[in-house]
Amino acid sequence: MKYMPTPSKLTTHVFMVGSGQLSGINDCCVYAIFLQNKDVCLIDTGTSNGGAIMNNLKQAGFAGKISHIVITHSHFDHVGAAWQFKNIFKEAKIIAHKLDADAIEGAKGTEGRTAASFYHETYKPVKVDVMLTKDSEDMTLGGTKITFLHTPGHTPGSISAVVVDDGKKVLFGQDVHGPFMDEFKSSIQDWAKSMKMLLGLNADILCEGHFGAYQGKDKVKEFITSHLKENNF
Ligand SMILES: [Zn+2]
Repeated sequence: MKYMPTPSKLTTHVFMVGSGQLSGINDCCVYAIFLQNKDVCLIDTGTSNGGAIMNNLKQAGFAGKISHIVITHSHFDHVGAAWQFKNIFKEAKIIAHKLDADAIEGAKGTEGRTAASFYHETYKPVKVDVMLTKDSEDMTLGGTKITFLHTPGHTPGSISAVVVDDGKKVLFGQDVHGPFMDEFKSSIQDWAKSMKMLLGLNADILCEGHFGAYQGKDKVKEFITSHLKENNF
């Protein structure tokens, strides 16, 4: 899919502000939710291009602060730049699942689970401020309701988030496509279960971690189903 060179607006309050094209070659797709109180909740951070993402945020009308950073899983292309945002916004709360938190926080022996060596970079760990532990958890951040779902598979602590905006259900699924590796502690059985649960949400927009945003219930369904089929589910 072709990306626009400027941040793309998906709904009134949801923008894509980072990606391989928008911020840096190895970056995952980084999304911003503009909360009711005008603060921003980031979904993932990319590798190390916080400055480019900040510029994109400003282009999208950002003038407040980043109050929350959701880390969908422990991989470097998703969490690498978290420390850069924490440097600017010291009060920002990092939200992640307990099962990936040790790798995000740089615990000894978890290096392989950040995949940083794949990018030939050194990972700078950050502290997880809000530890998710449940299958599903609703939170109101800056006046905006966000539902967090535990969607293990790609990694044990992978999460998805759902927000309703303009009457549309926006699903931040991130690495729906995998891959699955022992080094990541992937479980393809868990993944298939997670994907079936995400299909059941009937989301209007899927914000994916590397393939961009899929708009329309049919497109979302088609994307997830095609990956299930590819893996013989
Ligand atoms: Zn990943």
